[in-house]
This record gives sequence, C-alpha cells and structure tokens, in this order.
Amino acid sequence: GSDSTLQDHLFKVLIIGESGVGKTSIIKQYVYNYFSEQHPANIGADYALKVEKYNKNKVVKLHIWDTAGEEQTGDMASAYYKNASGAIIVFDITRYGTFKEVTKWKNQLETKTAQLNDSAVPCILLANKCDLQEIEDHDKIDEYVTDHGYTTWFETSAKNNLHIDDAFQCLISQMLLTE
Ligand code: GDP
Ligand code: MG
Repeated sequence: GSDSTLQDHLFKVLIIGESGVGKTSIIKQYVYNYFSEQHPANIGADYALKVEKYNKNKVVKLHIWDTAGEEQTGDMASAYYKNASGAIIVFDITRYGTFKEVTKWKNQLETKTAQLNDSAVPCILLANKCDLQEIEDHDKIDEYVTDHGYTTWFETSAKNNLHIDDAFQCLISQMLLTE
C-alpha cells in the first residue's frame, strides 16, 4: 500500500550572512551536535549532509552549503546559488551592522536564484547568539520579515542549541510545499 512507500527528497540549502554571525556554528550544531567558541573551520567547498526522517513516509536529505569565506567580499559565486531549494539568512543580535546587511544578502539570493532556478526559494531569517543578549524589538523584526518575503524568523543560539532544529524543520516544511 501507499503507507509502505518511502519518498526521498533531496534539497540544497544555503546559509548566508556576514562573516562571524555563526553560519558554520549553526550547521555544525544541527548536523554534528557540536559547538566550539573558536571560529570553526568552514565546511569548505563541499556541503554537510543531514538526513531527517520527516514523517513515516518521507525521508529528507539536506545538502547544507556553507560559505568558504566569500561572504567577506559580499558576493558569492553563481555555483553556490544554483539549484538551491531553500535558504537561511543569519545575523548576529550583538552586532547591529550584520542585521543591516541582511537586505543585501536577501536581494542577492533573489537575483541569483531568479537567474538560475525556476521558482523562488523559501527563506527564513535567524537572529543568532541570543544566549548573549535579549532582543529588544521583536515587532520590528516581525514587520521586516513580513515586508521582505521571509517565511518566518527564529531567535537562535548555536551555542545552546536553541531553535536550530525548529528552524530547519520549518524550512523543510516550506521546501516540501514549494517542491
Ligand atoms: P561564520 O563566519 O558566520 O561561519 O561564523 P562562525 O560559525 O565561524 O562563528 C563565529 C564566532 O561566533 C565563533 O567564535 C563562534 O563560536 C561564535 N558563535 C557562533 N554562534 C554562536 C552563538 O549562538 N552564541 C555564541 N555565544 N557564540 C556563537
Ligand atoms: Mg563560517
């Protein structure tokens, strides 16, 4: 019967944002349950693979693409964006400048994926390092996220493993919907 049919889904997921916001740390926490105070080595040219049993019929495989430091130049190669199914944009709540750059990254994501892909790519915003500081203005971020076409946003801590799984689960649901 249909219940015994396992569906396999493969998604390429991008993690974008300014240098030092915690992109690599978020991937390492989610995929390897590991965190380090040191600047962790980037995943590199390759991706990290995470396999999730989404429900009893669906297995989801994520190819999570880190950057290799190109974010410092403000521009990523087209190969990075090609065939992406979803994206996560990260800022650091202790550095306001990294929030201001979020718009730049979202614009670049939209421009590149419009050139390379058939459809728009679902994107969520992460306010990371919330173990260090309180967010003062939730309403402002709510409004920003609505105005700029994000699925939603989460307060995360890669250090304390807060809302990291929730964020990926949410993105997976959205990618399954738009597949
Ligand atoms: P990337 O350049 O965006 O990949 O950022 P990294 O993952 O290399 O993280 C930069 C620094 O921030 C490292 O020293 C991490 O240990 C630290 N970091 C990352 N996420 C968190 C977090 O949620 N909380 C705290 N306190 N530090 C974090
Ligand atoms: Mg990194």
